Amino acid sequence: MVYDVIIVGAGMGGLSAGSLLAKQGKKVLILEAAKVAGGCSSSFIRKGYIFESGATTLMGFDEKQPLHFLQKELGLKFPITPIDPAMTVWQHKKPIIRYKSIDEWIKEAEKTFGGNQRKFWKLCYKISELVWKVALKNKYFPPQNLSDWWHLITHNNPLDAFLLRYSFVSVRDTLKKMKLDTNPDFIRFIDEQLMITAQNTSEHVNMFIGAAMLCYTNYTNYYAWGGLISFVTAFTNYIEQHQGSILYGSRVKSITFENNLYHVHTEKGEVYQSNQIITNLPVWNLPDIVDIPELNAQFTKNTEKRKSYWSAFSTGIVIQDVLPKDITLHHQIILDEPVPFLNSHSIFVSISHPEDKIRNAGGVRVINISTHAPNPEIWFEPDFDIKQKKKELHEYLINALSENFSFFKREHIVYTHASTPRTWQKWVYRKNGNVGGVPQTMGIKPWQMISPVTAHKNFFICGDTVYPGQGVAGVALGGILTVYRMK
Ligand SMILES: Cc1cc2nc3c(=O)[nH]c(=O)nc-3n(C[C@H](O)[C@H](O)[C@H](O)COP(=O)(O)OP(=O)(O)OC[C@H]3O[C@@H](n4cnc5c(N)ncnc54)[C@H](O)[C@@H]3O)c2cc1C
Repeated sequence: MVYDVIIVGAGMGGLSAGSLLAKQGKKVLILEAAKVAGGCSSSFIRKGYIFESGATTLMGFDEKQPLHFLQKELGLKFPITPIDPAMTVWQHKKPIIRYKSIDEWIKEAEKTFGGNQRKFWKLCYKISELVWKVALKNKYFPPQNLSDWWHLITHNNPLDAFLLRYSFVSVRDTLKKMKLDTNPDFIRFIDEQLMITAQNTSEHVNMFIGAAMLCYTNYTNYYAWGGLISFVTAFTNYIEQHQGSILYGSRVKSITFENNLYHVHTEKGEVYQSNQIITNLPVWNLPDIVDIPELNAQFTKNTEKRKSYWSAFSTGIVIQDVLPKDITLHHQIILDEPVPFLNSHSIFVSISHPEDKIRNAGGVRVINISTHAPNPEIWFEPDFDIKQKKKELHEYLINALSENFSFFKREHIVYTHASTPRTWQKWVYRKNGNVGGVPQTMGIKPWQMISPVTAHKNFFICGDTVYPGQGVAGVALGGILTVYRMK
C-alpha cells in the first residue's frame, strides 16, 4: 500500500498536520517512536500518577489563534478549562501576578518595578495582537519565492508592515530607549520571562518576537483535565476516526527516495511507502535519518547554522493536597543565585488543577518543575557521573520549592523523580536531549526561520525548530502552515 502522506513523529506538529490531512481524505500514516503521542506536550504515568512530559501551560484558543482554528476546522472538543491569572512570577520571594488583562498587568508591573511602563507594555501588546492577526492568514510564510512574496504583499495591510521594524531592534534596546533599563530586577524579570518563551534573554531576542512572547499570559491560558495527554488524544482520535493510522513504538531509522516514492524504514525492519512526507522532528535529528543526498545536505546546513540549543532538567513531585485552593497553577521562581552546575536563573513550577479529579485522585496534587540545562552533550559523556549530578540537582529543586513556598513541606511528599537531558533523548528521541526549539537571536528574523518547504517538493518539515518555533500553539501553527504548502 502506498500512503498519501507519512508523518514521522506524533508531536503537536505532526498531529496538527495529520488531522487536517485526514480531514481532506488523505491516507495518512503517522509513525511514532514512543508508546504515546504528544512528545514534549504530553503526559506520562509513573507510580499511578500523571505527570506532564514537558509543556504545562496551554494557550492558542483565542480567536485568530491556531488551536481555535483547529478546534473549529475539525470540530474538536478539548477537555480544557481556562485559568486566570496564568502565572505568578516570584522575585526575591515576592509574587508578581501576570494578570490576563493588559491594564491590570501594567498596574502590577509598575507597582513592582516602578517607572512608567505603560508605553512599553502597550507596544508589546500591539505587536502581539498583530502577530496573531497575521499568523494564520499568511499561508506561505516564510516566503520562499516570488509567488510567496506576492501572497504576503497582497494579503496584508501595508501599515502593519511598519511594525516589522521591531525585528531589527532587541527587546533590551527598546527598554533602553524607553529608559526602562535602569532597574536590574526588571531586566532580570524580562530576561527570565523571555527564557521560557524565546529561549534567550532580552539582548538577543528581537522586539517583534519578544513582544509577542512577553504577552503570552495576556491571552487565555488553559488547563487540560487529566494532563495534556487528554488534549493530545482529541487529535489522535480524530485522525484514527478519519481513516488515518498511528503506529506507536515505530522509530524511523531512515527515509529514502526510490521510483518517485518515499520509503520509510523503521528500526523494527518494516518499510512503508508514500507520495509525500512530513517529518515532525527537530532539525538536529534529520541528517541522521534522511538518506536523500540533496535533503541531507540541506538539513546538515540547517543544523550547522544553529549550533546552540537547550535541554531541560525536570522533577516531578506528588504531594498531599495541603495547597491553598486558589493558588496560581504556574509559577516562575527567579532565583537570587543561579542553579549550581546548570547556571539557569529561574525554575518553572506547575501544579495540577485543584479540581482535576483524575490527576489528584487519592487527595494529592502533582507538581512539575523544570529548568534550562545548557550544553546537554555533557550528560552523554562516558565519564560524566550522571547519578550524582541528578541527585544533587533533584535535591536542589526540592529545596528551592521549600524555600519559596511556605505551604510546601518535605513531609508532605508522596513520590518524586527527576529527569535529565538524557531522558529527553530516551523519551522523545530528541538528539542530545535538545528541547524548546531554536533559541531566538538577533540574527533570526521571522522571515529567516526554517521553512516547512525543502529541496524536495513532496518532503516537508514541521515542529519546534521550524517557523514559527516552539510552544504548543506555535508548533500547531507550523503544522497548519505545512498543510497549506502541500498540493
Ligand atoms: C520542559 C519543557 C517545558 C515546556 N513548557 C511549555 C509550555 O508550558 N507551554 C508550551 O506551549 N510549550 C512548552 N514547551 C515546548 C513544547 O512542549 C514544544 O515546543 C512542543 O511540544 C514540541 O512539539 P514538536 O511537535 O515540535 O516536537 P516533539 O514534541 O518533540 O514531538 C516529536 C515526536 O517525534 C517522535 N520521534 C522522534 N524521533 C522519531 C523517529 N525517528 N521516528 C518516529 N518518531 C520519532 C517523538 O517521540 C515525539 O513524539 C516546553 C518544552 C519543554 C521541554
